[in-house]
Amino acid sequence: MLEIRPVCEHCGKNLLANSTEAMICSFECTFCKDCTDTVLHNVCPNCGGGLQMRPVRPQEMLIKHPPVTLKIHNPVKPEQFKLLFTKYKDILPEKR
Ligand SMILES: [Zn+2]
Ligand SMILES: [Zn+2]
Repeated sequence: MLEIRPVCEHCGKNLLANSTEAMICSFECTFCKDCTDTVLHNVCPNCGGGLQMRPVRPQEMLIKHPPVTLKIHNPVKPEQFKLLFTKYKDILPEKR
């Protein structure tokens, strides 16, 4: 089941369960749309994968399957990210 995480890993912005600004990679690393567009440029800094809008779980399903509460704050480390970014930035996510 998809983990609905409460904040952007990079900037710490709150991302409600129904946010349309929450972006995730295949491992559910979670970032806001701003960071995805301006910092990450569609390269997840943890795994190198692409990021897509997180699907919104219907409200009545959230009662039984609520968002996780643990806030992961893991800002991008520029030196480390540069390696992944250089490797993947020009390759479409489905070809990485
Ligand atoms: Zn952010
Ligand atoms: Zn990732």
